[in-house]
Amino acid sequence: MLQAGLIPNTIKSWLRTLVVFTGLTVTLASPAATVTTNELALDSVFSQALLVNRTIDIRFDPIVSIVNSSLLTIDTSTQLDTLFGLAPKLSPTVNLFFVDNLSFCGGTSNPNLIGCGDISGNRIVVKSGSAAGGNGGALIAHELGHNLGLDHLFPDSGTNLMNATISGNTSLDQAQVDAILGSPLIQFAGSQRFIDITPILITAVAAVPLPAGSLLLLSALLVIGFVASRRRRNALPTYSNPSMA
Ligand SMILES: [Zn+2]
Repeated sequence: MLQAGLIPNTIKSWLRTLVVFTGLTVTLASPAATVTTNELALDSVFSQALLVNRTIDIRFDPIVSIVNSSLLTIDTSTQLDTLFGLAPKLSPTVNLFFVDNLSFCGGTSNPNLIGCGDISGNRIVVKSGSAAGGNGGALIAHELGHNLGLDHLFPDSGTNLMNATISGNTSLDQAQVDAILGSPLIQFAGSQRFIDITPILITAVAAVPLPAGSLLLLSALLVIGFVASRRRRNALPTYSNPSMA
């Protein structure tokens, strides 16, 4: 434990600098995107009436973080390809990326996009702010629908999950249910169907948590180093069209 009264003013000044620097590091370490899995909402969508006795449990793995500030906003084909190229998991696991902003998908630029998913693939990207919103579960379920082989309905129809404009609708028709049940993304645990999803957080800076105890130790080591150094001197961090072609 440091006692301020016993520390010379020059070392107090240095300690204040260290505290400010450490505070800055913690601020920079905050990830720009966020992960909201909406697991309960997804489980509800994939256990709806037409799937009775054939419900699909949506399961999430631990979050994988990828530090790449140039992929926090996906505006171009190149960025989307680069992002999806970083997918850490092979099929049948689904790679679900969370970014800050998205305006490109399926060969189209659109500032209203909030999600994009491969049709019959295993990669999805969503805007983290939209995933955290009231329709976040419907958003991820819709993109997962693409991965499961479903295309948009043309035009939008009723309350269907695959309407191209988000509205919180999550219903599936019989043909869609049949297609989903035939997807290679469906795995089995005994008789229980499930889909495994890995959430991937895109961040600008690696998170380096500094608990109070370690800060104190760092300060103490610094003081020791300073004193030793002086002695030597003296002597001395709306999907509106999310389909992928
Ligand atoms: Zn879509």
